Amino acid sequence: MSLSVRSKPYIIPEYSLTGDLLSYLTCGLQYRYQNKGTLPPSMPIQLWFGEFIHGVMEEAYLQWRDNDLKEFPWDWKTQVRPIEEIIDKRLRSRGLYPPSNLFCPYYEEGHQQGFCDDLEHPHKLVASQRAEAAINTWGPHLFPLIDNAEVRLKGIRDMPHYQKDISRSNYYGITGVIDVLSSVNMEVHSSSSNLILKILEEDPIFKKKVESFDSKKYEVIIDYKGMKRPPVNSPSWNHHQWQVLTYSWLRSMQNDSNPVAKGILFYLNELVPFKGDIGDIKADVKSENTDVMPLGEDKNKILKWHSKKDIPELSDNFKIKRSIRLIDMDYESIQHSLREFDNVVEDIEKCTVAEINGAGIQKSWHPRPEKRTCDACDFKTFCSNPEPSSQRFSVP
Ligand code: SF4
Ligand SMILES: [Zn+2]
Repeated sequence: MSLSVRSKPYIIPEYSLTGDLLSYLTCGLQYRYQNKGTLPPSMPIQLWFGEFIHGVMEEAYLQWRDNDLKEFPWDWKTQVRPIEEIIDKRLRSRGLYPPSNLFCPYYEEGHQQGFCDDLEHPHKLVASQRAEAAINTWGPHLFPLIDNAEVRLKGIRDMPHYQKDISRSNYYGITGVIDVLSSVNMEVHSSSSNLILKILEEDPIFKKKVESFDSKKYEVIIDYKGMKRPPVNSPSWNHHQWQVLTYSWLRSMQNDSNPVAKGILFYLNELVPFKGDIGDIKADVKSENTDVMPLGEDKNKILKWHSKKDIPELSDNFKIKRSIRLIDMDYESIQHSLREFDNVVEDIEKCTVAEINGAGIQKSWHPRPEKRTCDACDFKTFCSNPEPSSQRFSVP
């Protein structure tokens, strides 16, 4: 008698656009250690803050919608901090703990001093300053336009270059989360001094796009980034564009959707830049690698700044302009971004299969050494190829 062999379980690997694909593009080896390893990431700063600011903006919107909190600015201690605490708890339950130099973690009895200067908790550390600025700068303009918050997107694509018996699956899943603004809400607020509407109305590509639709109904999709605006010659600049274009493709397949007229990214660190950010902005300005250049006083302050000086006071106008980026929607660019992510998935799948077949982690996954990423990487002590100038050992 012959026994039948149990067939392999049918899996469709599911990739999150930010958590997997963008993370892999940053550094493949780091991605493997962070996301697929049994080693938990100890303190992925970028990851924690990105998740935190996303959560804060969503929760702030819900509170604005459901409670009587229509007046801005919101007070940090009584209105913003409680939201931060909700999000912090939510992230902790997923194993994401705040870096204590970014976020004061003490809000319950029996707290310790930790990294804070004194026991007068809560302290408004970097993450809180940015959360407050994000809510008070964009909340008044953004919240009234939101139609649908935290829309979960999910789609299925053919596995690129599928090979029977070699590939893990013939399909892969792709996921993301966005906020959706609707044309209906935009019309209601069109006579107000809404900054987002003003920026959209001044954009000829947006106007043309809207006119091209059969129906008057359309959408604008939104995402938040807990980082500074990347220089226009950087890979991240393109990756973020692909991300939003792919979101619009995923959105278009949902039944309740209207055509997407534009994508908007918010680079929220621009609202409260710290030393590292100012240094980067200065480099972008000097090399003319940014699409939002400073003028007059702002330009002077940025060009004269050096790391021993205090952080310069930049104008609100400049900071606001740098914190918002519009993404054009057109068929060709959407197809291009989908192909780009197909390639990324193909790469990740190849690495995964190599590792399953016993090639070992370091041989299967490709490091992408780059100073900023390696400096903040938890795995540089055992990475085979870190960027040479990033310190191999850091003392906390
Ligand atoms: S040290 Fe650099 S190259 Fe190595 S895993 Fe970390 S980010 Fe990647
Ligand atoms: Zn504190």
